Amino acid sequence: MKLTQRDARSARLRALPAYLFDELVRLRHASEARGVDVIDLSIGDPDLGAPVAVVEALRRHAGDPGLHCYTPQWVIQEFNAAAAGWMRRRFGVSLDPATEVFPVIGTKEGLAHLPLAVLDPGDLALVPDPGYPVYSRGVWFAGGTVEWMPLEASRGFLPDLAALRGKHPRLVFVNYPNNPTSAVATAGFYRDLISWAQDTNAYVASDAAYSEIAFDGHVSASILAEPGAGDVAIEFHSLSKTFNMAGWRVGFVAGQASLVAALKTLKSNLDSDVFGPILMASCVALEQGQPALDATLEEYRARRNLILSGLDECGIDYHRSPATLYIWARVPGGMTSLEFAGALLERAGLLVAPGAGFGECGEGYFRISVTCPTPRVKAARERLGEVAGLWKK
Ligand code: PMP
Repeated sequence: MKLTQRDARSARLRALPAYLFDELVRLRHASEARGVDVIDLSIGDPDLGAPVAVVEALRRHAGDPGLHCYTPQWVIQEFNAAAAGWMRRRFGVSLDPATEVFPVIGTKEGLAHLPLAVLDPGDLALVPDPGYPVYSRGVWFAGGTVEWMPLEASRGFLPDLAALRGKHPRLVFVNYPNNPTSAVATAGFYRDLISWAQDTNAYVASDAAYSEIAFDGHVSASILAEPGAGDVAIEFHSLSKTFNMAGWRVGFVAGQASLVAALKTLKSNLDSDVFGPILMASCVALEQGQPALDATLEEYRARRNLILSGLDECGIDYHRSPATLYIWARVPGGMTSLEFAGALLERAGLLVAPGAGFGECGEGYFRISVTCPTPRVKAARERLGEVAGLWKK
């Protein structure tokens, strides 16, 4: 057989688990082909647009030919200072902008590359189940071994730290506010995690991409605000959700200097930084973005309440959480999460994410995102009302 006709994927790629969401795309296309107007509640992709001042800053800086070269060091320094200033105002965390903060091309990039920067082949990493798939992919690509940490409703979807005693991972991923469960962590949880990591000699990667998406007075904690975090932890912050800038591809890492340095070294071998005008505009977001964030949260809160009232009417149970773009709900009537997603698409034209797509422990749940435009969320609420009788016990 000719080389070009063979499966070009490496063994590494072929070993990846099947992507359940592909099946969802197939179901969606089949519904649309039948003329169904599908409302997509399955993806967390902020729809409200970046703050006006940030867009204006991008326009201004994009016109500066001095920023069309590889990103100058002074721009990275400005961004690091803005990110450190935001961390200080928001969490009371003091960071050295030169060594403890660094931009990433979206947190997905940083999270995916961290294992390659800190793990040796065979090293163990603990990864939440259910969870954002990038953590496990990063570990596998780095030749590390993934051990799943079940997140269960009975523990508020926090990992059972007592069950981790005796394990010797080099890296542990946590993500609060959590995707997909919407669960939040307390400062006390972070303190226990730090003390466990210190005893175990493990590094903690805390993915705080949803730290600002909170409602009803909830204020999310940062692991970096807790004593000892500076020895073991690195935290990832994203402008994607906080400032509706998902397509801009910008976020930052902050925390333990040798972890930041390792990621920085890896990245300097693989990429050439975020585009300068985007970093300059991101400084404006970090310094002046709060009013736009408040308006976004108000919109999400209203959408969320609409969906929650629909789930209530359907008798569907969900995790009550004050944070994230997501609602994590129980599949009714003994179906698998994929069967239920198929049924909801069939009966109501609503597309939700089956929990099993986030890991084995996600089975029995489904995830709804509130990043769909408000008129569509209103239509989704009405459709939930129309099918409310179907799954009631
Ligand atoms: N972390 C979590 C938990 C996410 O859900 C996402 C994206 N949906 C990211 C990180 C990546 O965000 P970005 O790369 O846009 O910063």
